[in-house]
Order: sequence, then C-alpha cells, then structure tokens
Amino acid sequence: MTTKSGSAVKVLFVTTELAPFSKVGGLGDVAGSLPKALKQAGVDVRVVTPAWPGVLEKVAGSGVKTTTVKTKVYAAYDWRIHSAEVIKANVEGVTTYFLKAEDYTGSQYPYQLNFWTASPFAVFCMQALELKDAIDWEPDIYHCHDWTSAFLPCALAWHRHYRQTGGKSIMTLHNVAYQGIFEPSPFLEASGLEPWSFSSSTMEFYGQVNLLKGGIVAATAVSTVSPTYANEIQTYESTRELSGILYHQRSKLRGIINGLDTKFWDPAGDKAIPKNFSVKDLKGKAECKKELLKRAGLDPKTKDPVIVCVSRLVEQKGFDMVFNAAHQIAETGAKLLILGSGQDWIENGILQAQEANPDSIKLFKGYDEPLSHLMYAGGDIFLMPSVFEPCGLSQMISMRYGTVPVVREVGGLRDTVFDVDRPEGGNGFTFQTCDVDGMMWALRRAVERYNDNKDEWKKIMLEGMSEDFTWDKSAGQYKAMYEDLMQ
Ligand code: ADP
Repeated sequence: MTTKSGSAVKVLFVTTELAPFSKVGGLGDVAGSLPKALKQAGVDVRVVTPAWPGVLEKVAGSGVKTTTVKTKVYAAYDWRIHSAEVIKANVEGVTTYFLKAEDYTGSQYPYQLNFWTASPFAVFCMQALELKDAIDWEPDIYHCHDWTSAFLPCALAWHRHYRQTGGKSIMTLHNVAYQGIFEPSPFLEASGLEPWSFSSSTMEFYGQVNLLKGGIVAATAVSTVSPTYANEIQTYESTRELSGILYHQRSKLRGIINGLDTKFWDPAGDKAIPKNFSVKDLKGKAECKKELLKRAGLDPKTKDPVIVCVSRLVEQKGFDMVFNAAHQIAETGAKLLILGSGQDWIENGILQAQEANPDSIKLFKGYDEPLSHLMYAGGDIFLMPSVFEPCGLSQMISMRYGTVPVVREVGGLRDTVFDVDRPEGGNGFTFQTCDVDGMMWALRRAVERYNDNKDEWKKIMLEGMSEDFTWDKSAGQYKAMYEDLMQ
C-alpha cells in the first residue's frame, strides 16, 4: 500500500494494552496480533504503549532485546512537562515503543475516573504525538483504541498546539461501554484543548467530559470490532445516550471482525496444555479434560460434558443468568467450570452456586493465562451468554480448541457462531432471549447432543476447529480503510 507520493503508508498503533505484556482483555489481544498481520499485508506499522509496572520485566523475560532511544518525549499537561524515556523493541517483527515515565507507575486502569486518574491517558496520547521527532519516523495515520487513547484524535482536532500539526486518526471501538467520563474541571484548562472542544457536538456529555465521544467525533474514521456491533451501537437500546452521536457519525463507521493469533492459540503446539491435539488427531483433548477435572477437584473419569467459561465477571458477560440457572445446569449432569474475576456480586453469586452444587460447579477465581489454555482445551462446551459483545475472542479460541460454543446471538458472537440446527448447519448453539430460559434452551440442546450423538458432536467440533480465525481477511479490511484515508 502506498501514499500518493509512492511511499508506504505509515501507521502508529496507539494502545494502552499489548499482549502478552499488558493485556487486560480483548484489546490487548488485538494490539498484540493485528500489527503483525498488517505488517504481512504490507502496511508500515509500529506500536506505542505505556510501560506499565512489570511490562519491561515481561519484555526482558520473553527474550526480546530493547534499546533506549536517545531523545525523550515530552508532553505539556497540567501546567508541567511530563517526560518519558522511549524504549524500543522488535516484537516478532513489529517495531514497538514502550514509554517509561512516572505517569505510568500506578495501576494500569483506574478504579474511579477523575482529572488526576485520567491524566496518564492524556499524557500518553500527547507523548505518542511527540514520538515522531524522537524516532525520525512520522506516521500518516494514528490508529487509536478505546477511550484510553481517544484523547489523541481530540488533540489533533482541538488542541492549541497539535491541531496545527495535521495528521489523520482512526478510532477503533473495542467496547463502547467504557467511555472515559469525568468532571470537566480542571481538565479543560489543564489539557491545552481549545474551549470550543467542550460542546454538545464535541466532547461534552451531560456536563461531563466524555473522551470516547470526543474521539469518535474528532477521528478521521471510526471502526468497531464486528459488523453486527457496528449496527447495534447506533441504537438507544445498545449505547443509550451515545447512540445519537454514533448514528450521526455512521458514514465514517465500519465493522471489522477481530482475528486471532492462531499461532499462539493453537491446540497442536500449545505448551500450556498437557497433551496437544488437532483436527487430524483429537485424542489429546481427552487428556486435557482429565487434567482440568483434576484441577477442579472433580472426578476425572466422568462421562458428562464439561461446560467452561473464561471471562471477566462483569454484568456485560451475563453471569447473573449463569448463577441463577446453576441448579438447572447441575440437573443436566454437566460440570460447570468458570475462570474469572470481576464484580463482587457476580463472584459471590457464583460462589453460592458452587456451595449449593459442589459436585458440579467450580469457580477458579482470578486471572490465570495458563489455566485459561487448559480450560479451552479441556472443556466440551464453552458458555458465553453475553448481554452485549463487541466481538468476543473467547468463542473463537474455544472453537479452535474443539470446545463447542453456546452463545447469545449478539454483536460479534452473532457474526462468528452459527446454530447447528439451522438448515445449513453450524458450529455451535445460539439463543436470542437474554434470560435463563433462553440460555437453558440452547445449553440443554448442546448437552443432549453431546450425550446422545457422539458422531454429530465430533462433526460440530471439527467444523469450529476448521474455521479461519486468522487475521488475514480482517487485516485486508483495515488496509483498505487506511487506503481510503490516504485518498
Ligand atoms: P473482553 O475483551 O470483553 O474481556 P474477549 O472475549 O474479547 O472479552 O477477550 C477476553 C480475553 O481475555 C480472552 O483472550 C480470554 O481468554 C482472556 N481472559 C478473560 N478472563 C480471563 C481470566 N480470568 N484468565 C485468563 N484469561 C482471561
């Protein structure tokens, strides 16, 4: 891909999460894998990300060599200069800059947002805009992700200094539920944004600052992570007060489904599971199931299906349906294993369900990457009853590992999982109604199919395992978006 002058288009990924060094959710996975695919598709892409606590240690631990760029980057914010050291690394072929500064020594994401807790994100965006001088490489397009880098398009449009510098930006929405909302004072005075940046048609939102809204309005183009979610977010039911802005901006909005790092998520080569397996030889999966059941303290020889969930335990993911259905799930004979942590009321609901059904339900509380691999590999059914789901990666990972998904037909789940009982067949079980009855209707069909028809079950597993979840197609769509912007 080239610009009008014939040189390759340069894209800087501006992200506050980067797998495997600072992943919190799907955004981290995407930032860690999409640039590699873009590079292969011929895009000159580089990545900038904060060096949150522990990140540089993980980089060193993974064997990636780093060098310190001679020049630091500076941002003027809150009436002082914020400087950052630029640590350069080649991460699997992608030039990546880690910004090391006092601003990034706190927790990665604040529990409560206000001017002070939001400031690392504004500072990061300004330092990303300053990076070009330190590295002698100027991006044509800044590709930003979620509210945490949404200040960058705002700065390009409305900052006293940066609006003079030019530059195009893309805002990719991984989850519109998180918008970066906080009190305007003293942000408006301290940020360097022009006073007119705070109006109902820019970043003002019911008297508050809304960084994501600003980013959507200010960006040259907007994308989100599945075609269905791109349509859903324009409706009041989905995004409430923000839906008007998204509807208004729809001409610059497109939906591109996420891919997976299929080398990392590969049951045939995964080192975190006790026995590898593939489409050609499924035997190892039974070993993984045994090991998983042992870890859960359940009978490893059970013939019953094992339902697994790997998830943040937040309202979005529909776990209130899961714990409210605990008794019905136990009655099917299936085992239910959940890995995750999140909101107290959901963790408590699951713990109570576990107490009432100790032989069939188990919560592994916490974030545990290696265990997540064992869950994907050792499960029979993957349950994901999301209330909303921008794209969802877990359902794709589970299919790669031959664990058949049961999902609600929403967002990216609707674009990736197709019910086996459709005339044309499918790769999972789906339901529409967001309640216990809806979920149990699909889950019971899955459990019965597993118990009653092993041949058909194997066919469904193989269907999912054979899906193309690589980034190839989607990287092509991102490339087309960059090309459109360069016209
Ligand atoms: P979201 O981004 O909304 O959290 P996705 O399905 O897009 O959901 O991505 C979730 C990613 O985070 C997947 O890679 C999943 O395996 C991982 N994940 C979620 N919870 C945990 C956990 N408790 N332990 C390990 N990995 C987790």
